[in-house]
Amino acid sequence: MNRTTAEIRLDVLAANLRALRAALAPETAVLMVVKADAYGHGADAVVRCAAAEGVGGFAVAYVGEALEARAAAPGAEILLLGVAGPEDVPLLLERRITPVLVDVEQGRALGAAAQRAGRALPVHVKLDTGMGRLGLDWTAAAEAGAALRREPGLDLRGVCTHFATVRPGPGDPALVQGARFREAVAALEAQAGRRLVRHASNSRALLFHPAFDFDAVRPGILLYGYEARDPAGRVHTRPILEWRAEIVQVRRVPAGFPVGYESTHVTPAPTTLAILAAGYADGYPRALGNRAAVVIRGRRCPVAGRVSMNWIAVDLGPDAKERAGDEAVLIGGADGAAVRADELAAQAGTIPYEILTGIRPAHRRWTGGASLRDPA
Ligand SMILES: *Cc1c(COP(=O)(O)O)cnc(C)c1O
Repeated sequence: MNRTTAEIRLDVLAANLRALRAALAPETAVLMVVKADAYGHGADAVVRCAAAEGVGGFAVAYVGEALEARAAAPGAEILLLGVAGPEDVPLLLERRITPVLVDVEQGRALGAAAQRAGRALPVHVKLDTGMGRLGLDWTAAAEAGAALRREPGLDLRGVCTHFATVRPGPGDPALVQGARFREAVAALEAQAGRRLVRHASNSRALLFHPAFDFDAVRPGILLYGYEARDPAGRVHTRPILEWRAEIVQVRRVPAGFPVGYESTHVTPAPTTLAILAAGYADGYPRALGNRAAVVIRGRRCPVAGRVSMNWIAVDLGPDAKERAGDEAVLIGGADGAAVRADELAAQAGTIPYEILTGIRPAHRRWTGGASLRDPA
């Protein structure tokens, strides 16, 4: 086959969800973030599994992702974090997808489209309290509440914000954002004349600031098993994805043997090289050349030389027994010899989110999930 495979462990996802649930108050809802194909884990299977575990809502970036989540979880709340246009409104109404408004002008446009469709569109409002990205400025919350209240096509249901930085300890910028959010929500609700569903926390805020749980939390990465190792955090989870590649050639080579483009690695001693069928075209970052390790038969073996488009070389050591056709683990492995996406991220100068969403396995398998056998 010569192509990489990802295995996604739905039983571990279920365990991660239970760990989260145990840390939250029973009345706090979970809006699981499944954008970017569930962070590269496969949105359909992930949403089905999470819905079977009792997750009541999912958040996505794009309309297409929202439709996929809706198909996988017919009864769940689906929140569209991206910016919907009036042309999307009939579909949003029909599929019960709740868009997040980023300004009043967008709200008016969606409201008008909903009126043309003869129904009121449920919406949440996104307040920018310091992220400096999408949303309307928190200082304009009252004004926005008054304006949106006058839109008969809108059914204002919720309000949210997003944290830029969570740095537990004195001077944590999240505390400033949280205080702004509280103040702005009060003003917005007063003008809108109703109590709104409030949600703010991503994984990191959730881990360190229970006070910001509000009505719902929006975790992503921690449910996929990353960024949740800090002992001070409220939840501990495990990675659910394993990524494997095939060894396509094994070579005995002498000392002084140059490996790969630019010969950036030269063997210091006689050794055995394994050539793996995986490269940057598969999402294994080129920056990992001469840096990362892979796990082969329970041993960590260093990547030797540059990562090329479809191949990487790893040093198996002089006494290797591996043969072509054996498997190498690019991400995963057992405790004694594991490679994690956050380790690769550090080596490549990025974050685990980018590693996970960047991998492009030819084959994906979802295992350990009862929910796959009874699609809703
Ligand atoms: C991606 C995203 C999240 C989830 O962030 P994690 O760090 O993965 O928990 C939450 N809210 C919004 C608005 C997002 O864009």
